[in-house]
Amino acid sequence: MRESSRPPPLPDSRPVSSVTDQRRPPADRFVQVVPLTRLGPAGSAYTYRIPDDLRGRLTIGQLVRVPFQSRTLAGLVVDVAADTSLDRVRDVAGLAEEDLGLQPHQLELGRWIAAHYAAPLSDVLAAMIPPRLRARVAKPVAARAGGTGTDLLSLSDEGRAALQNGGIRRAPVRLAVLEYLSRSGPSPETAVVAALGRGREQIRALLDAGLLRREEAAGLARASATLAPQLSQAQQEAVAAVRARPGSTVFLLHGVTGSGKTEVYMAIIADCLARGEGAIVMVPEIALTPQAVKRFSDRFPGLVAVLHSSLSEADRQAEWQSLRSGEKQIAVGPRSALFAPLPRPGVVVVDEEHDPSYKQGESPRYHARDAAVRLGSILNIPVILGSATPDVSTYYQARRGGYVLLELPDRPVWPHSGQVQSGEDGIRSMPPVEIVDLRQELKAGNRSIFSRALLDALHEVFRSRHQALLFLNRRGSATAVVCRDCGYVATCDRCDIPLTYHSSRDRLICHRCDRRLSPPDSCPACHGTRIRYLGAGTQRVVEEVERLIPTARVLRWDRDVTGRRGAHERIAATFDRHDADILVGTQMITKGLDFPLVTLVGVVLADVGLHLPDFRAGERTFQLITQVAGRAGRSHLASRVIVQAYTPHHYALQAAMNHDYWSFYRQEMTFRHESGYPPFTRMARIILRDRRLDRLTERAQDLAAALTRSIADRGLDLEVMGPAPAFVARVNEVHQWHLIIRGLPLESVLDVVPSEAAIDVDPVDLL
Ligand code: ADP
Ligand code: ZN
Repeated sequence: MRESSRPPPLPDSRPVSSVTDQRRPPADRFVQVVPLTRLGPAGSAYTYRIPDDLRGRLTIGQLVRVPFQSRTLAGLVVDVAADTSLDRVRDVAGLAEEDLGLQPHQLELGRWIAAHYAAPLSDVLAAMIPPRLRARVAKPVAARAGGTGTDLLSLSDEGRAALQNGGIRRAPVRLAVLEYLSRSGPSPETAVVAALGRGREQIRALLDAGLLRREEAAGLARASATLAPQLSQAQQEAVAAVRARPGSTVFLLHGVTGSGKTEVYMAIIADCLARGEGAIVMVPEIALTPQAVKRFSDRFPGLVAVLHSSLSEADRQAEWQSLRSGEKQIAVGPRSALFAPLPRPGVVVVDEEHDPSYKQGESPRYHARDAAVRLGSILNIPVILGSATPDVSTYYQARRGGYVLLELPDRPVWPHSGQVQSGEDGIRSMPPVEIVDLRQELKAGNRSIFSRALLDALHEVFRSRHQALLFLNRRGSATAVVCRDCGYVATCDRCDIPLTYHSSRDRLICHRCDRRLSPPDSCPACHGTRIRYLGAGTQRVVEEVERLIPTARVLRWDRDVTGRRGAHERIAATFDRHDADILVGTQMITKGLDFPLVTLVGVVLADVGLHLPDFRAGERTFQLITQVAGRAGRSHLASRVIVQAYTPHHYALQAAMNHDYWSFYRQEMTFRHESGYPPFTRMARIILRDRRLDRLTERAQDLAAALTRSIADRGLDLEVMGPAPAFVARVNEVHQWHLIIRGLPLESVLDVVPSEAAIDVDPVDLL
């Protein structure tokens, strides 16, 4: 059963009896099962024999129990085969009791992902099941005490009164139930019982006595409508456009930061709930968008499962099961939320659809946005892609009519929000963006990392007790450690890249392999002692602010300080409480944050990523600058954005300065068209790794030749670029080469690629 052009590495899947009997397919006798265990590499499939009593009853996606080492575990059937080359295989022990297998729409999505991204089906299906389900899977689920999964319990007026009057003080469990519901608001019965550890009998008694009532989720959807604000004209039009096209339409909701896209999503989700359907809401990285996530749980209390990557395994599993059982209907999370086991999703929302984190870096290398579009067509439901800076490929689809374009052009002044009108017609203007030419600063003798304009603005913010964000997409204190006498540069001898100096640890750190070394006192090459630290990262920015404005409270937000669980939330909360004046960060601070006191955004070096050998460098830079600029001007306070750059005339920076997506789009598309890049074509990147460079070069050249031959043989219109060393040419002593296949249809040649190579279809970067 070959599901994709690159099936899972099965021991053997030759059809045996096809020669003797062409008409009758051989009975399936073996299954490939991925045990749900933390032992062994994730997603490895093992072969088992189907015992006679289960013949014909096992299908892909089903959960079974299998012997594994000395235990019996739950496992997911990922393939069914007629034969195996293995001598001894063990029998499937039985079916798993719980109804936790994959649903038909999930299987179909899984098959599409495996085929489209040339990924082993076992990897894809394993990604759809939370990793540590196996512990629970053998146990049968406790029977429900009546009511459907979509029912919610809430206090009746009598219940509220009883709680106030102390009438039921002598029934502690009943009291606990009432208190729980008065705190939580309407909740599913299972959630109450899970929280209290008991209470089913008492809940029934309270229902009989009229102190509790059951509410249908549809009722709650109506209740959420009372929480929703009056929508603006533009929001209403967007909502109406989605309602007018039920079925599998894809919408691109293009609206500047703060234009009210989230309210549009929530109105459509309320529609779904009223029909008894659920919703999948994808956000780029939950830790970086806590405020946006909280708005969903506030609007739809008790119905939102947040699939947070920093949840404990047990909590993640509980959320997963609450969605599978229908207790909760809205899944909010990063790309894996696409695999939320909702029985009946009614809409898929992809917020910040341009974000590169939607592409998974390891197998299966799927793009969650593009897979979401596919899921919409499998389920025949709408998909809403939202962004202030849409991926030009998405915008191109919308312009060509493949997607429906909905625009929210302004940041309105919302009534009752206390915002003071600063523009005409009740529209808040976007904050002005000034570009500072760093070459002019150098000419004027300013060698600091801050231009005079940015430093003045920082002082001003500090004086007026507001807050500022400083963005620099690079970590550390110095990006190069150089000997002044001989020009020696300290590099990682495993990765061949310059080491970055981190002053807080007083270490040179390799940003590829994380190797850490003491900084040299003298030059290893010439023994000179005049060592110089060049280039700046976020840590250096913090040091500079502390030196120049000693009383300012400075906070840093980058990968070096967010290793621990909850670190993101702590930093956001500290800044939100105004326990810090200036927040310095990498791209982590560009997403979704809403701090009303921020009146200055400074981009320390806008061209950091602009000149990388990647055709999306301009687009990424435009997106990052526009998004970080959107963190300013979130309230009535006058705000400004200062962008420092060595190439201020680059069209990506000019367009960001003018808040002009359209002008950026036009110039970017001209470039993409002339150079033959997506969306005018498609690409697949193939990465080969080897410790030995000579062997790697040979393998890469052989593969390029095989591809070229196969393309010619099959008469395909594809081009092979490379092989060449990857931009990251060596990581931890392993060399990397890549080659790129360009053209349509890509999939037809990927079967030539050996399974040790990594295939990245529709890559989001070529670095
Ligand atoms: P976006 O998702 O486009 O960045 P949001 O939906 O977060 O924008 O809206 C920005 C702010 O405006 C939020 O604080 C939100 O509560 C508020 N807002 C959005 N729509 C309305 C509305 N119709 N009435 C009042 N406030 C609104
Ligand atoms: Zn290294």
